[in-house]
Amino acid sequence: MKELEEKILKEGHALSENILKVDSFINHQVDPVLMQQIGDAFAGHFGNKGITKVVTIESSGIAPALMTALSLNVPMIILKKQPSKVLNDNLLQTVVTSFTKGTSYELTLSHQFIQENDNVLIIDDFLANGCALLGLIDIVKESGATLEGAGIVIEKGFQNGGQKIRDMGVRLESLAIVDSMTDDSLTFRD
Ligand code: 5GP
Repeated sequence: MKELEEKILKEGHALSENILKVDSFINHQVDPVLMQQIGDAFAGHFGNKGITKVVTIESSGIAPALMTALSLNVPMIILKKQPSKVLNDNLLQTVVTSFTKGTSYELTLSHQFIQENDNVLIIDDFLANGCALLGLIDIVKESGATLEGAGIVIEKGFQNGGQKIRDMGVRLESLAIVDSMTDDSLTFRD
């Protein structure tokens, strides 16, 4: 997606050879116009799939997932990063290891929000080694719903998450795929 790639080149920067900082438009401050374009782009990719729910993980996935849900006119569901004391009935859970923080957390969904007859689209901000997305996929499968695919705002193509997910046969659409990055250069896959 051209607008996204331009924004990454202008405002993103590599914190290390593995971590891309996009705090000024995705992770901390959010650019609503770009988010709307991102939501419309995902809706364009998956609009013919009969999506009934868009699912993401708190917190950076919420903005792109919400705009996608708005564009598809369906609800968005936020998977919580810890077991909720309030929602302790009928919970689906799986453990995910965080790439950026190096810690583990329990991903939690209240089953009532995703049921067997749902067609689910997963949206997240980044794909690195695939742990977060695999956790999301696990929970959707546990719910008995149909997984229609996953949309990622920025995939880091030099890490192996994308390969893993595509090898599983999951339809994966990434709006920008970064193939390499250093302090002063960043290249995208065509
Ligand atoms: P994975 O589970 O695929 O290894 O990592 C995905 C999760 O880690 C994303 O949900 C995102 O929150 C975070 N993440 C991974 N790589 C980056 C990165 O380069 N920059 C930022 N800001 N977050 C990242």
